[in-house]
Amino acid sequence: MATIVKKFGGTSVGSIELIRNIAKKLATDYHAGDELVLVVSAMAKTTDELFSLAYGISKHPSRRELDMLLTAGERISMSLLSLALMEEGIPSISFTGSQSGIITDDKHGNARILKVSAFRIKEELAKGKVVIVAGFQGVSQAKEITTLGRGGSDTSAVALACYLGADKCEIYTDVDGVYSADPRLVKNPRMLKEISPSLMLTLCYNGSKVLHPRAVEFALKYGVKVEVKSSFTFAEGSFVQAANTIHQRIITQGINENMEARTVTAIAHKDKLLRYRIPMSEALLKTLNSWHHEIFKSFLESGNLELFIEAKYETEIDHWLMEHEIANAEKEADLAFVILAGLGLGHDVAFVGSVLSLAKSWNLLRSIHNEQSLELLIPAEYLEASVQILHKTYIEGNK
Ligand code: ASP
Ligand code: MG
Repeated sequence: MATIVKKFGGTSVGSIELIRNIAKKLATDYHAGDELVLVVSAMAKTTDELFSLAYGISKHPSRRELDMLLTAGERISMSLLSLALMEEGIPSISFTGSQSGIITDDKHGNARILKVSAFRIKEELAKGKVVIVAGFQGVSQAKEITTLGRGGSDTSAVALACYLGADKCEIYTDVDGVYSADPRLVKNPRMLKEISPSLMLTLCYNGSKVLHPRAVEFALKYGVKVEVKSSFTFAEGSFVQAANTIHQRIITQGINENMEARTVTAIAHKDKLLRYRIPMSEALLKTLNSWHHEIFKSFLESGNLELFIEAKYETEIDHWLMEHEIANAEKEADLAFVILAGLGLGHDVAFVGSVLSLAKSWNLLRSIHNEQSLELLIPAEYLEASVQILHKTYIEGNK
């Protein structure tokens, strides 16, 4: 008997029909005797719609009230899935984040998990029930309802898998797995059968939306085995785990690979970025403690704190700066980052040179060389072309 946490994203539970289908497919696992904990996102678009309702009333809604509102989305999908399972004759029960014991800090809108105390889930599993948990939410020690940041249901799932010592955490989504680049930008992306958690973390912190980066942090830190797979086909997807199968292939098939070849595993990107340049000061450092927003990257550059932030947060950030009386912040729009992820890349001067010579035609603004990535800051207008050429050169060209 295995304990498996399965997380279903918004598009996977986007309609009654899809929810019914999931319940039908889950019947097989349940009857095989597996202990199942299902974590759900809100039905597709629900969270965005709830946001618009709030912004329809207030330009700068209170984060606490927003969290009360947003968590309603996952309550809808969790109870519908529970009802659908009951219709299949499977005993089930749904819990909010707070009922399932996800304890967080008090940063509304971007709370971090302090601990999981999910004894109620264990009790219900022991009674033979399937437990459904509302993702993306928790409760602070002051008993306030919190949310974990956009896309945070993945993190709820991996955190629960860790607490339960689950054999696996399956993340069901609307794609078949993890791809070597965004399939909307490149024609021949490769699906990766396996990717190490640390490379996956690089991809997710650099724009890949397939998993919430904090979910990958959890997986890496606590050794949770994660699989990303399609909720439409349930077919085998991509495993986020140490490189077992490649190693096995070398041992069992005696494959004579170029063992230290430098490979680009995948390319991530982030579009529509704003750069704020804020003169560094004591006052600024003090205010950072109250920062609630997601930042993509930050640097200290020529006496300025540089923050790269998604353009959709512009009004909130401007408001935050005004509230904290931070003047002289410069703002620049239409920037993008393209990131090549692969072991050793940034330390391979020949490789760096070859990328930089390609990048000349994209008006490269900065390159950052790390132990498992090469990051390129470019004007957003070159994004598509750069991802396509890099993918062709370093991934399709490398059979
Ligand atoms: N429903 C939340 C969102 O749209 C959380 C999630 O889907 O993971 O961001
Ligand atoms: Mg997601």
